[in-house]
Amino acid sequence: MSIVDFTKTPVAALYGSNCFSNAVMRERLPRNIYKEILAVQAGEKELTLEEAEVVAAAMRDWALAKGASHYTHWFHPLTGLTAEKHDSFIAPTDGRVLMEFSGKELIKGEPDASSFPSGGLRTTFEARGYTAWDVTSPAFLKQDQTGTTLCIPTVFISYYGQALDKKVPLLKSIDALGKQAMRVLRALGNETSKRVYTTVGPEQEYFLVDKTFYEQRPDLILTGRTVFGSMPAKGQEMEDHYFGAIQERVAGFMRELNTELWKVGVSAKTQHNEVAPNQFEIAPVFTNTTVAVDGNQLVMETIKNVARRHGMEALLHEKPFAGINGSGKHNNWSLATDDGINLFDPGRNPETNARFLLFAAAVVEAVDRYALLIRCSAATAANEHRLGANEAPPAIISIFFGGPLTEILDNIVEGKSSAKSEGEEVIKMEVPSLPILSKDVSDRNRTSPFAFTGNKFEFRMVGSSQSIATPNTYLNVAVAQVLSEFADKLEQGDHKLKAIQEIIKESYGKHRRVVFNGNGYAEEWVREAERRGLPNVRNTVDALSVLSRSETIALFEAHHVLSKDEMESRYHIYLEKYAKQINIEAGVTIDMARRYLFPAATSYAGDLAQDAAALASIGATNVPQAKGAKRIAELAAELYEETAKLEAVLTEAQEVEDPFSKAKVYSEKVRPAMDAVRSRGDALEKLVAKKAWPFPGYEELLFKL
Ligand code: ADP
Ligand code: MG
Repeated sequence: MSIVDFTKTPVAALYGSNCFSNAVMRERLPRNIYKEILAVQAGEKELTLEEAEVVAAAMRDWALAKGASHYTHWFHPLTGLTAEKHDSFIAPTDGRVLMEFSGKELIKGEPDASSFPSGGLRTTFEARGYTAWDVTSPAFLKQDQTGTTLCIPTVFISYYGQALDKKVPLLKSIDALGKQAMRVLRALGNETSKRVYTTVGPEQEYFLVDKTFYEQRPDLILTGRTVFGSMPAKGQEMEDHYFGAIQERVAGFMRELNTELWKVGVSAKTQHNEVAPNQFEIAPVFTNTTVAVDGNQLVMETIKNVARRHGMEALLHEKPFAGINGSGKHNNWSLATDDGINLFDPGRNPETNARFLLFAAAVVEAVDRYALLIRCSAATAANEHRLGANEAPPAIISIFFGGPLTEILDNIVEGKSSAKSEGEEVIKMEVPSLPILSKDVSDRNRTSPFAFTGNKFEFRMVGSSQSIATPNTYLNVAVAQVLSEFADKLEQGDHKLKAIQEIIKESYGKHRRVVFNGNGYAEEWVREAERRGLPNVRNTVDALSVLSRSETIALFEAHHVLSKDEMESRYHIYLEKYAKQINIEAGVTIDMARRYLFPAATSYAGDLAQDAAALASIGATNVPQAKGAKRIAELAAELYEETAKLEAVLTEAQEVEDPFSKAKVYSEKVRPAMDAVRSRGDALEKLVAKKAWPFPGYEELLFKL
């Protein structure tokens, strides 16, 4: 545990000290090469090998000076985690070594890495996997007990050029969206912006538990969540944890977490206690999407590492505890131009208002038309416990806009002029046919899965352990498609403002059913959404199936983000991942039920029975010990039986070949069978003596740190 003294090492000196940022490149590279790098980052050209040589040498010198011995291409395979393969810089010559790192080694790696899921895109014997430097995200140094390693963010592709990772489609989706947004901007008369890109700021939730408790729970160790556990007398109902004072042990952890993140240039900014006990959140300042995606992977990794140094374990799982709030990730997303315009900023004049309304309408249409795709982007086995389970939030995609903004858009559809509300500060629009937009049109609604929050949209369905690459990719593609259609229309007409109004009128009129400003957690909303015809896909397997639809594949192909083969392989990988995860959870459930719970319950029932017999010998009959022993023995028998049933359906699931059918069996048979075992286990936990219970319960996990 290292506590940095900020009086000796000011944060400003610490920040980015382990990041090969543009600032460092500007210092260390010849001017012309640095300018080329900027052009490569802007997608204007490709990096030449000569340029790469110069950058590699500068990067090596910088890394060696900071104590690095190894470098790695750092990539995002389809597991959703990050992967690395370390190479040392050494180049032995005549019994000595030189520390070398060539341009080729910088821009291209051959990790092979054939065990990562490729969904049939390559077979091990025929094709290696290649990594290639993603110039849009800076290299950084990872420092820990094992030493210092230079990490180079890369994409991961097959020998034939197919994407094997989450970064390639993300980069392509950013390009696709940027291209269509530029067409719209040009058609609106913008001649100055050169590029549109997406900005992202992900808020990350997590739990902390004491390591000694964690280590006694096989379920937490193997699956990241508790597959047994009954609610303690106190849950989260008091809401006394939410935004409460951060206790010292956690504060020490957060301080080190921030320091570590600042070093690698991740702008960790806010932190607080979340709703559930021992649940916390960290949020960075938003940045361009690839940096944000890489940054979030680093945040997750660093949370885990730093927690361990403080004798704790961080749980990134979406639902570690039944009956207690789960963890998500709020993906704050916006569109920005290279010259500093935020396209979702309503602005202060008629032109920016009109532009804003047009882009906002595009998001509404995209979210309505591609609701299944957006839902699918948050569909994992773990997130299934959060979305559409018995607890809120439901799995319905809707957008929150707040009253005033919704009214303005409605008025455009109905051809009414927007009325000024009393006392509200309004910006007068010179163009009479467009409405007046108040300065702060956004409200706060914490129950909406997709909320407009002033100058950005916040997608809140994403799971806490997920990579945000996929949600952003799908969102970008969906919006790109709608913007391309808007651009087609705008490019034809002459009368721009009239055209804008017509587009908004038509688009919003058709898609406003997806706008909902009420309480998204209310039971009433589920019925209302059904009346509106909005999909409510409760389970992951059904949510994933949108990836196999021909119209989805056509969408990704039209924007050159993923090919049919790549889409199909991903679909299979996600189905397999779902099945594998539940397979492990079911295995752990069986193991814990048989080897921990059943023996504990049986012995305890036996003890009670003996006590009852002893008491009977002194004439005390019909004692509660006898009744208790009987009840526990009954439950233990049920636990035993349900475990056998779970084992049977698990075997059945394991034997299914087709990935979709297999995932279905896990979802429809294995999961309920696990629940049946759990309910017996949890009932037993309430009856068996605390000291006879084989592992720590929710009380320890949630309230002791
Ligand atoms: P909250 O949602 O809790 O009210 P904020 O509004 O401060 O918090 O923002 C939360 C996250 O949104 C932060 O990570 C912030 O950097 C990010 N954010 C703010 N503006 C943008 C933007 N234009 N694009 C993307 N993310 C943004
Ligand atoms: Mg938020």
